[in-house]
Amino acid sequence: MLISKRAQKVSPSQTLKITSEIKKMKKDNKPVINFAAGEPDFDTPEKIKEAAYEAIKGGFTKYTPVSGTHELRESISAKFKKSNNLDYSSNQIIVSNGAKQALFNALLVILNPGDEVIIMAPYWLSYTEMVKLADGVPVIIDADKENGFRPKFDDIEKKITSQTKCIILNTPTNPTGMVWSKSELEQLSEIVLKHKILVISDEIYEHLIYEDSHISIGALSKDILSRTITVNGVSKSFSMTGWRIGWMGAPYDIAQEVSKIQGQMTSNPCSISQMAAVAALGMDGEWFDYLRNEFKKRRDFMISKLKKLNISFVKPEGAFYLFMDIDCTGLDSFAFAEKLLSEKLIGVIPGVPFGRDDFVRLSYATSINEIEEGIMRIGAFLSV
Ligand code: PMP
Ligand code: GLU
Repeated sequence: MLISKRAQKVSPSQTLKITSEIKKMKKDNKPVINFAAGEPDFDTPEKIKEAAYEAIKGGFTKYTPVSGTHELRESISAKFKKSNNLDYSSNQIIVSNGAKQALFNALLVILNPGDEVIIMAPYWLSYTEMVKLADGVPVIIDADKENGFRPKFDDIEKKITSQTKCIILNTPTNPTGMVWSKSELEQLSEIVLKHKILVISDEIYEHLIYEDSHISIGALSKDILSRTITVNGVSKSFSMTGWRIGWMGAPYDIAQEVSKIQGQMTSNPCSISQMAAVAALGMDGEWFDYLRNEFKKRRDFMISKLKKLNISFVKPEGAFYLFMDIDCTGLDSFAFAEKLLSEKLIGVIPGVPFGRDDFVRLSYATSINEIEEGIMRIGAFLSV
């Protein structure tokens, strides 16, 4: 067999696969509605693009330090301090090709073969596959849909063994839009400290919270910060998914190891994108207000339309996803998604790769008109 066991045990990313199929259908002028997209539909702000043009014109087109330019790491360190109350100095920050690479780097550096990683369902579908690629074992904790999939701390504790290395936390959560409360983060922090494990905190949707504001688990105490790897990036907050800039702040020893392995795998992320990311981090509060208001409008609109159809779902508190319950249809999530696409030209992501086969994920990173039309078609689909 030419293909390794490692490659064989990993599933392809359904979010990327289905989204690209839908983009292709749109390009072929099919009137498809894209509720699958995992990216904001706005253009990258002009000021950020200008910084990239300047970088190219100024010849900033060579290798940079593996961990990112000094200027970008300083900007990230200042951002961590100002908006998250996290103390990571610039030598604890590694810039990578998207938050995805930052997450994978973290797992590669901390896991030995057979080490267990706790992942709370529903979860972003790449976590399990990344853990497997790093020779770890994903340990899934299920939660109840009746209480909006809020964390069950007794269950988390029960699944911790001598092999447990870390817990992956994602708030706001993809795919449910759940936002962890301060007291929930405190309870998780106690568990992490008690069992002397690590937490990887994926905060990529931090600016998209509609009622409360974001809290970083690492900001709760110095002790928990010393066990936290905080991951973030520009993809969602600045509509820069294609630029591929993400980063981690980590305890110093971990950061140095990440820099070492990134230096052997990909070197630095794109020099031009790094200059653009410095400009992104300089954007003022007006941009975030615009982003948040725009998504809140769409969320509220989608919710009101679904309620009229009596469809059950988890009310999203953040991110731009809504997790819709399809239990009553008797279809599994792939069959539902395929039927909805072929019969009504609506693209959604099946719930099974997120850990729930009785749900599908709808993204509201699309226009109000499309949301209106799309939910109408879902209504017609369900009433047949
Ligand atoms: N974390 C979560 C929860 C995500 O939904 C995504 C999707 N892009 C990422 C990380 C990775 O983001 P990127 O690699 O584009 O920075
Ligand atoms: N994270 C987004 C999503 O969940 C983008 C696709 C991906 O990176 O998986 O749809």
